[in-house]
Amino acid sequence: MAGRRRPPLPRPPPRGTDPRWRCWWSPTLRHGLARLLAEGAVFPEARHAHGRPETAPGHATLATGRHPSGHGIVENAWWDRAKGREIYSVRDDGGQTSPRHLLADTLADWLQRAEPGAVVVSAAGKDRSAVLLGGLAPDAAFWLDEKSGRFRTSRHYLPAEPAWLAAWEREHGLARRFGETWEALPLPDGLEAAALGFAPLAADPYARPLPRAVGGLDPSVGEGFFTAAYRTPWIDEQVAGLALELLDRYSLGADGVPDLLALSFSALDIVGHEHGPESPESLDVVLRLDRLLGTLLDELDRRLGRGRYLVALSADHGTAPLPERAGPPFRRAGNDEVLCLQRVERELARRHGHAGWFADGFTFEPRTLAAAGLPAAAAGREAAVLVSACPGVARVLTAEELARGPAADDELALAFARSFHPERSPDLFVHWAAGVVPRVGRGTTHATAWPHDTRVPLILAGPGVLPGPRPGRVATVDLAPTLARLLGVPVPDGLDGRPLPVGELPAGG
Ligand SMILES: [Zn+2]
Repeated sequence: MAGRRRPPLPRPPPRGTDPRWRCWWSPTLRHGLARLLAEGAVFPEARHAHGRPETAPGHATLATGRHPSGHGIVENAWWDRAKGREIYSVRDDGGQTSPRHLLADTLADWLQRAEPGAVVVSAAGKDRSAVLLGGLAPDAAFWLDEKSGRFRTSRHYLPAEPAWLAAWEREHGLARRFGETWEALPLPDGLEAAALGFAPLAADPYARPLPRAVGGLDPSVGEGFFTAAYRTPWIDEQVAGLALELLDRYSLGADGVPDLLALSFSALDIVGHEHGPESPESLDVVLRLDRLLGTLLDELDRRLGRGRYLVALSADHGTAPLPERAGPPFRRAGNDEVLCLQRVERELARRHGHAGWFADGFTFEPRTLAAAGLPAAAAGREAAVLVSACPGVARVLTAEELARGPAADDELALAFARSFHPERSPDLFVHWAAGVVPRVGRGTTHATAWPHDTRVPLILAGPGVLPGPRPGRVATVDLAPTLARLLGVPVPDGLDGRPLPVGELPAGG
């Protein structure tokens, strides 16, 4: 790769590629994504193999090479039956933001063990993304605080916020964008957003098309503005800006020992929830992210030298489309689904007496089970029959059957079993029918085992990687062991993933 002045022209999109994204193969776009597609090993059918795709489980899976059942981060937050309260995946019992709930070590930890002197730094829009990618003991981790618009860390990582960060915030902080509009970047010549399938939702009386002001009527910079700015691509620009600063501050890549910089760009998730993946807003987030990745790669070339670093790109989950834009088979869960689920508890109370059957979600309240003299497994079987009768529900899986271990050919149950941890998971898992978007009200979400929620990009580029498409199913648990192998770091035993053969092309390919 060394010596080449411009990235090669992107190759034609692999078969089966979503036509919405054909702009990335346009020869006029030469930013990060086109470059990674041209220079990387590209896995178009990579998936999270677990059944509950969410931010925290997705990041922990990419970092550990294990499914959530192994690393323990089964959801963003879960109910602790013994403590009787919700546990946020990255807040420890001392109230600190930290990886203490992570039950496995990560690529970052393997690297630090194998290479004393390796520096690990992470940064993200969301705290859980920065924490879980950084592993158990990184040198630093930073995330954006939604209310103050500033990057934060916790005492788990550093005794106090570093002085340089305050100075950086004064010069580059989100506050400087107060009074700016969110404007859509132009598409390359000849491409039109509507023709690619990105369109505003017709007949939405609350739509405020781009360009749009950010924040409310408060004329002072404060929480209202920062919370609104947290829902724009600006937060990705903050993460990329901080990443350049971190390269300097931590001298990343400056010596012969490999370092790890883990970044997570959160805007596409946040904007996508609100407007849907085919919105002009989401398109703009990706266009801007593409530029940011291009800038970061150019900067790595300049500082470290081309071909002297490894890059991996993936995602924590996919998403359902906005049902109102996509149309059938997609439909939004509504009154019937809500009422049917709510009446399960009423029916259990009618049959067995006692109130308050569920402590949180589908996790039984242990005191009610005890009072009714009903074991959790029996209650689970009974509730599963009731929930199965609800509209839009394709199947219900109980903790009992997931703990027992599903049959080898039961793909769906296996996916949920990979998301299952006996102490952290609910007593029931709902598998929604194809097309049902389990979100009431506006927006969309990612909460099912269907491919639109589990399929993610996976691209690796750099020394030891032969560019080209790699058709066929691979899983996100394969990323960490693949990177470890490329770095010459021993791959721990007992992982769910395996190193992918990125140094060779598939036979016949
Ligand atoms: Zn999300």
